[in-house]
Amino acid sequence: MTEIKAPRGVRDILPDESWKWAYVLNHAHAVAGDFGYAEVHLPIFEHTELFSRGIGETTDVVEKEMYTFTDRGDRSLTLRPEATASMVRSYIEHDMAEAGQPVKLWCAGPMFRYERPQKGRYRQFWQLDFEALGSSNPMVDVEIIELSLELFRRLGLTNLEVMVNSVGCPKCRPVYKGRLMAYFGAHLDTLCESCVSRYSRNPLRILDCKNPQCRAVTEDAPGIYDSLCEDCRTHFTSVTDGMTRLGATFHVDKRLVRGLDYYTKTAYEVLSGQLGAQNAVCGGGRYDNLSEAVGGPALPSVGFATGLDRIILVMEEQGCSFGKRPAPLVYMIAQTPAVRTEAQILTASLRRSGLAVEMDYLGRSVKAQFKAASTLGARFAAIIGESEMEKGTVSLKDLESGEQVEVLRHDLAGKIRKLCESN
Ligand code: AMP
Repeated sequence: MTEIKAPRGVRDILPDESWKWAYVLNHAHAVAGDFGYAEVHLPIFEHTELFSRGIGETTDVVEKEMYTFTDRGDRSLTLRPEATASMVRSYIEHDMAEAGQPVKLWCAGPMFRYERPQKGRYRQFWQLDFEALGSSNPMVDVEIIELSLELFRRLGLTNLEVMVNSVGCPKCRPVYKGRLMAYFGAHLDTLCESCVSRYSRNPLRILDCKNPQCRAVTEDAPGIYDSLCEDCRTHFTSVTDGMTRLGATFHVDKRLVRGLDYYTKTAYEVLSGQLGAQNAVCGGGRYDNLSEAVGGPALPSVGFATGLDRIILVMEEQGCSFGKRPAPLVYMIAQTPAVRTEAQILTASLRRSGLAVEMDYLGRSVKAQFKAASTLGARFAAIIGESEMEKGTVSLKDLESGEQVEVLRHDLAGKIRKLCESN
């Protein structure tokens, strides 16, 4: 029979890498705590309508990238391509308006998009998603951006570029759309096929196209700033002023529109030169009308999502620390087959006292067990042989210093702890 492999664009995160994921997730937990964001766990699939109405019918995500299926009850469901729409759905469903605004939530988990797989772009990828729901205050936009930057700071990421723009609101965006259509109308013969189709449906998306010819045309396209209404302009200035006050370095990128339709006012991205074509580590912004689009009340909100897979790629390329790879503190060595069951009892008692202990189940020689201890990175070898059995002792060898002592069995955990404390 043919071997079954994982589907294209999805991957296994194996022990070699999973501990790095845990490291980043631990930092996300800590930063979330420091900024007052509470964790939620949201469903992996939702009603398709949540995304088609929330993200926008004419976006690439909804048009081409969703994993949509009909369940046995004939419902159209979709594996979530992002978390913001679910977060808003959850807020509305659980009537979180009662809580003090903004309600600050975050979640982590896999997202699914049918994209062409390449380095840093997968069909199943993880996002860390932070949302502040229920406030139109530009200071909250600043907090969200600062939160993402603080996470990257703590992870040791460097050389990141922060790009900011405003995408206006339903009042002023039509004015800008009109100006863009007038501009692109004169360049239709140079634009790629997708952009020609975007021209009448969603001309802002042309600004986002990666095709070099389209990029050359967008170079001179009008920026949105001159079309912004008073409210959007004031908001944008407050956000950029706030970021400057916090000492953030950023660029205003007039072509930044983001791939999802729900953004209003602030849009931002954090880019890394280390990622090649898929250079966005993080993207977010304000989405004041998403709630109404999915049948909820007015709910001005702002948030961001950052790709865990990409954060780890950049950290690896930049040689950032992931802390210490998990290793057993103690490797239990049985000198003869007769003491193996005793070795398991000792291992269990050390584990019950909270120590990380590993032992051999292959009946390997003492030499091979020592080798395994060093391969796994254990700090100590606890050796039990016939003579230790008789005396009720264990020999404890510090594999770093080479020093060996014999201790009574019931003193073993205490002795290990003492040695750990002393250096
Ligand atoms: P978006 O939801 O498109 O704004 O994406 C937010 C972040 O998620 C991006 O900046 C990436 O870091 C990450 N991301 C988006 N799509 C993918 C993908 N297909 N594979 C890996 N990471 C992704």
